[in-house]
Amino acid sequence: MRIECTKCQYVLDKPDIPRRCPYCSAEGSMRKAKIAQDLIDESE
Ligand SMILES: [Zn+2]
Repeated sequence: MRIECTKCQYVLDKPDIPRRCPYCSAEGSMRKAKIAQDLIDESE
């Protein structure tokens, strides 16, 4: 799935959310990114 860093907006594709950002190494900043398909799924 697509994961983004809330601190530096770095985006990566991984099956699970890493504890820290591989780019800025901020801890706990990674979260599942909102993509268009997610918004469609949620509205159903
Ligand atoms: Zn980051």
